[in-house]
Amino acid sequence: MHQITIAIDGHSSTGKSTVAKQLADYLGYVYVDTGAMYRAVTLYALQKGFVSENHLDKETLIAALPDIELHFEKNTDGKAEIFLNGTNVEKDIRTLEVSEYVSPIATVSEVRKKLVEQQQKMGDAGGVVMDGRDIGTVVFPEAELKIFMTASAEVRAQRRYEELLGRGEAVTYEEVLENVTERDEIDSNRKDSPLKIAKGAIVMDNSEMNLEDQFHTILQLAKDRIAGRV
Ligand code: C5P
Repeated sequence: MHQITIAIDGHSSTGKSTVAKQLADYLGYVYVDTGAMYRAVTLYALQKGFVSENHLDKETLIAALPDIELHFEKNTDGKAEIFLNGTNVEKDIRTLEVSEYVSPIATVSEVRKKLVEQQQKMGDAGGVVMDGRDIGTVVFPEAELKIFMTASAEVRAQRRYEELLGRGEAVTYEEVLENVTERDEIDSNRKDSPLKIAKGAIVMDNSEMNLEDQFHTILQLAKDRIAGRV
């Protein structure tokens, strides 16, 4: 069957990865969480001390990029997890600390270039669902299906807050709301590959939608494209 490329971009904490994962499983496609890649580079920068409050040692980070090896491996449940230089960092990259530093690091063009090249290789055979901020605009501008997900900042912060609490992180709703809006701001205004609605993308506001509705809506759009109806 004809395999398409599905690009899911959007604001922070809109649940892109949950629906993208579900869709990839259903279609038997590869799922790539590109946010995990930017988060892993951020974790590396934090571990090496290249980044701290109000300071990013950009030149040192750029020089260290060849030393950063990222790949995904499936765990026993079939879920792809990210490895940084051979270590599984899937859990370590989801903290609020990493969330607080990731957007400034994602403004660095050299970081983006390295990750975009890897993402393009991972998806060049088609049959891929990729989520991020620049998939429909930069990574796969020819993707057959492009979705732009959004929701109110309060709804997104509440969802992320509950997720972090569930993982045992001591955070407040206000902190999470601030992080979500700050990341949107940086991601949308950076010079290189800013977050914006890609040409031909379908905008989905999921403030009032449950997961099942989102999944079925996108699945139908995908099926139409796979069958060549659109
Ligand atoms: O998707 P997630 O929220 O995990 O992404 C974390 C951050 O990584 C985003 O806020 C953004 O700064 C950066 N990112 C990006 N381009 C992508 C994916 C993520 O700049 N394709």
